[in-house]
Amino acid sequence: MRPQLGPSKAGSLEDKLLGFRGPALPGMPSAPAEKRALITGITGQDGSFLAEQLLAKGYEVYGIVRRLSTPNPQNIRHLLGTVHLLDGDLHDQASLETAIRFSEPDEIYNLAAQSFVGVSFNQPVVTGEVTGLGALRLLEAMRSRADKARLYQASSSEMFGQGVAERLNEGNGFHPRSPYGVAKVFAYWACVNYRESYGLYIANGILFNHESERRGLEFVTRKISDGVARIRHGLASDLHLGSLTSQRDWGYAPEYTDLMWRILQPTVAEDYVGATGETHSVEEFAREAFRAAGIDDWSRYIVTDRRFARPADVDHLCGDATKAKERLGWEAKVRFPELVHRMVQADLARHARTAPS
Ligand code: NAP
Repeated sequence: MRPQLGPSKAGSLEDKLLGFRGPALPGMPSAPAEKRALITGITGQDGSFLAEQLLAKGYEVYGIVRRLSTPNPQNIRHLLGTVHLLDGDLHDQASLETAIRFSEPDEIYNLAAQSFVGVSFNQPVVTGEVTGLGALRLLEAMRSRADKARLYQASSSEMFGQGVAERLNEGNGFHPRSPYGVAKVFAYWACVNYRESYGLYIANGILFNHESERRGLEFVTRKISDGVARIRHGLASDLHLGSLTSQRDWGYAPEYTDLMWRILQPTVAEDYVGATGETHSVEEFAREAFRAAGIDDWSRYIVTDRRFARPADVDHLCGDATKAKERLGWEAKVRFPELVHRMVQADLARHARTAPS
């Protein structure tokens, strides 16, 4: 029999996380949902969009939330009461097994990671532990507790690193250029190995960069959209950036979380690339962002700051998502200028609420 989620346990976690003071899990559907999904990394950019989309499809959604001294519920505040939040950490095998036992998921989405490339150079061991070994711990928990479930692994274009092809697809080899990329390659191959060794349904989404108004502020796209909005509102006078020449294939995050779900629907588990097929430099992103904020003389605000240089960098990434288009009917529709404008407009509106008039 399926173990019941103790109301006090879930309720107390929501209390801690969100300052919530109502009955435990209000508004949860009383009839059992058709499918259950478990998301690691639900508080992140992708986890929050994915949870919304799965709820809209009628899933019962469980999310693993790690303990932080200061909770960061901003991305999931609006989902309070509609998702089940479970204590857990990718460092902790027992917590993953408990989460799987409670949720009995049909689908597991492993989105949790130390996901910032820059930090991975300063914290390589933590990155390896969470982004690499964390995925392995989840695979073991799946193998022992939910071997009929389907698992999505959040693999990354950073695995290609120093890629050999102009546009990279599922057939290209990996040459990661950061501890983050190395950890993701480990997790990728662990997934392939568990699929082949134990016949588990495990699929990698090798996704190129995807951004949104929920992107963490340390990532360069959000740093730019936020910095430009601050400058526009008179809250900052310049914007410090590392390399302006790095080129990335940037898409819009909710489209990529839709792809994650699609990747788990075919009968046979396979790996897929998700990308727009276009690449743009950091400088182009900055120029477009200043334009979106109505600032023409953009270059006078940019300060190139060597503190943001990395020991090794990836100069150019561009993906080829033909397989996802042909097999899953997926295509990135939000293009570069629209993505930049969406992010800048969101940050302009956010700072307008706090800026002195
Ligand atoms: P994100 O916003 O940084 O979210 C990362 C999530 O992982 C957060 O919910 C974070 O929780 C959680 N987490 C970190 N350490 C954990 C731990 N020890 N135990 C449990 N949870 C932990 O990342 P994202 O942009 O949504 O990306 C989702 C996944 O896709 C990541 O694995 C990322 O590496 C991968 N990916 C992203 C992109 C992209 O462009 N966005 C591209 C390719 C692959 P806290 O909120 O507590 O920090």
